[in-house]
Amino acid sequence: MRLVVDLNKCQGYAQCAFLAPDVFAMHGEESLVYNPHAPEEQRERLARAVAACPVQAITADGLDDSRDGGEASDAR
Ligand code: SF4
Repeated sequence: MRLVVDLNKCQGYAQCAFLAPDVFAMHGEESLVYNPHAPEEQRERLARAVAACPVQAITADGLDDSRDGGEASDAR
């Protein structure tokens, strides 16, 4: 899924890097690097990172629509 971090908003709190280390990483003290095409299996971690960001800097496509509620068994 695609995601975007608004680096103008990002304050480098590193919550996201802590919660989804495969997607986000801190580069030095304040700059964030991330994978804009996070793999599906990172969805849950990503959702937590989005929720945890204190400045709501992270936007991810297709995170919030839980259309196929219940057990999502790798629908494709
Ligand atoms: S949690 Fe938000 S503010 Fe903190 S590093 Fe990640 S995107 Fe930036």
